[in-house]
Amino acid sequence: MKQPRFTVQEFHRQFPDNETCLKHLFETHHVHKQCPKCAEKGKYHLQFGTSHFVCQCGGHQISPKNGTIFHKSDTDLVKWYFAVFLMSQSRNGVAAKELERAVGVTYKTAWRMQKQIRLLMQEDVGLLTGEVEADETWIGGKRKRQGYRDNKTIVFGAVQRKGKVSTRIIPNSQEQTLLESVRDNVARGSNLMTDEWKAYKTVAILEDHNHSTVTHSKNQWRHGNTHTNTIEGFWSQLKRSIDGTYHVVSPKYLSSYLSEFQFRYNHGRTSDEHLFSFLLSRVGLQHVVAVQRIGACRSLRAA
Ligand SMILES: [Zn+2]
Repeated sequence: MKQPRFTVQEFHRQFPDNETCLKHLFETHHVHKQCPKCAEKGKYHLQFGTSHFVCQCGGHQISPKNGTIFHKSDTDLVKWYFAVFLMSQSRNGVAAKELERAVGVTYKTAWRMQKQIRLLMQEDVGLLTGEVEADETWIGGKRKRQGYRDNKTIVFGAVQRKGKVSTRIIPNSQEQTLLESVRDNVARGSNLMTDEWKAYKTVAILEDHNHSTVTHSKNQWRHGNTHTNTIEGFWSQLKRSIDGTYHVVSPKYLSSYLSEFQFRYNHGRTSDEHLFSFLLSRVGLQHVVAVQRIGACRSLRAA
């Protein structure tokens, strides 16, 4: 059954002010916290007029914004929560300009918030198995004459049918690069489906995949169960969203846009309310650092 939508009205009802958000943040991350002074568990309360929680013994306090993406931000927590809400509910992404208006912050702040919230959307999807479609696409850059691919960024993607998608920026579409991309994303011995690009043939042999191809250059898009329509669908949705919402994406920021779209695709069946609290459960810097480490390892290997 389709979950009821988590509406803007419902959001404002549940999170009317900073205090409510602060309590929510505390409860999400410290609810059963044991006090290091008196050893009692869960005896903290919000100290009136401040943003910290104090144990009943008075000997220890916790500021729930510490160690999260909200740390050091002067922006009201309720505005942060609303921005997370908007970004979690959107189907096609939220432009910083939109966020600026809706949340009531400056453009610069909206842009920064967006960047931080995108970090919550980064994740390692693990190895894909079964029927997996792999492909590369060219994104961004200025529109030039047809076939001119300068100034564009190449993105590799693999999608498990009825499963998750995994993407990454790659420096080229040569065999070694694709081998590493497939190896990091697809379990050995899967049913790999690609277009006719010859590099995939070698990759499939080395990785022990059952490989089948469609010959796009000969206008062959499907034979039997073999096609790459799932990943092509993901690419066109991504490009439509970039055109419609963000207009231009520089290569430098493409990676964070990619994680946002990947997240939307991979969590498409999750209910709105759950998605919102899921993102809020990741605001701790531990999550952010962990995903950045994964990203760094991967880009090192891809370079
Ligand atoms: Zn205590």
